[in-house]
Amino acid sequence: MSPTRVLVLNSGSSSVKYQLLDMSDGSRLAVGLVERIGEETSRLKHTPQGGEAREWSGAVPDHEAALKAVAAELAKDGRGLDSPDLAAIGHRVVHGGKHFTEPTVIDDAVLAEIERLIPVAPLHNPANLTGIRTAQALRPDLPQVAVFDTAFHTTMPESAARYAIDVETADAHRIRRYGFHGTSHAYVSRATAKLLGKAPEDVNVIVLHLGNGASASAVRGGRCVDTSMGLTPLEGLVMGTRSGDMDPAVIFHLMRVGGMSADEIDTLLNNRSGLIGLCGDNDMREIRRRIDEGDERARLAFDIYIHRLKKYIGAYCAVLGRVDAVAFTAGVGENSAPVREAAVAGLEGLGLAVDGELNAVRGDEARLISPAGARVAVAVVPTDEEMEIATQTYALVGKDGMGSEGD
Ligand code: ADP
Repeated sequence: MSPTRVLVLNSGSSSVKYQLLDMSDGSRLAVGLVERIGEETSRLKHTPQGGEAREWSGAVPDHEAALKAVAAELAKDGRGLDSPDLAAIGHRVVHGGKHFTEPTVIDDAVLAEIERLIPVAPLHNPANLTGIRTAQALRPDLPQVAVFDTAFHTTMPESAARYAIDVETADAHRIRRYGFHGTSHAYVSRATAKLLGKAPEDVNVIVLHLGNGASASAVRGGRCVDTSMGLTPLEGLVMGTRSGDMDPAVIFHLMRVGGMSADEIDTLLNNRSGLIGLCGDNDMREIRRRIDEGDERARLAFDIYIHRLKKYIGAYCAVLGRVDAVAFTAGVGENSAPVREAAVAGLEGLGLAVDGELNAVRGDEARLISPAGARVAVAVVPTDEEMEIATQTYALVGKDGMGSEGD
């Protein structure tokens, strides 16, 4: 029997999220998280399939220690990193630039390219690299695959991917719109086609990934043609703590008139803007609770969030020409009926509407919330980035005939 298990690692600057999946039946054998790596007290939570969650706190000084702790937890379930059932490790890598259009088996050249991209992803790529190097050290014989957040967006035409700035300057600094959340947009656009009973090639979908970070994409026949995030995940929609679109002159103004440094403005726009900057809360549940109590600041924050979202829906209707479905996903998109209702309110002229009763239904399955017979399907489609990374990793490893020892 060929090994069928894939360990998915999502290494952030101070955390490692992981899942062990069995690709023979799509089951999740373990799900876990190590948080606050490098701090005085780190925390690990590990939940094996069908079992109780195990949690502990202690010192986890670096990513190597974190991965060893993960390996130890998996070993307790009899599924350690040394298991012959493990086919590959799939790594989420945030920035793959223009170069990486597909999941890629990691070798020294791939590592060097991910490293070369650090200037455009200074927060994410270093952490991803550390995760990869640590996993390689623990299992040097095992194929390791990089699945890039940007890859799904590399099909964007130049007209959507380029900023209208001096071409030489842009190219010298690799400034263009790369887009992010690509794994989610890929998964959700395909799952939406499936919900409609059609092939991805036959449908045009607007995907609204609304989590703490948020992005929209226009997907024509399975290929991304536009997305709202740009050079970095700061562009586009109003997010939990990020501003999204803004006149770039605000930055010069804050420097010249406000006396702020580039780093201070970076922190302002990434961490103290969006919903939290507007009303002090970035959790949509809390914002809705405050609105119900008559809080005006929360109301305005919600209205600004919805106004931007609507503009992107309208823009992507225009980009696609024909829209078959609008899919809501991620924490807010999957759970907030008021956001979904407000986002399409008044867009009947574009064929968009939600049915109040269907919209109020809660659940984990992909489902339609538009009225029967609607011109454009509106859907809630839960995202599953880990499953997508595992699927892409396994497909690649299988295709290359790797990981098939023991046949
Ligand atoms: P990320 O992966 O970007 O951190 P998620 O996709 O997990 O984010 O989304 C997190 C956000 O989802 C929270 O900040 C909160 O605003 C929102 N959210 C989660 N559950 C609910 C809910 N039941 N109702 C409304 N919003 C929710």
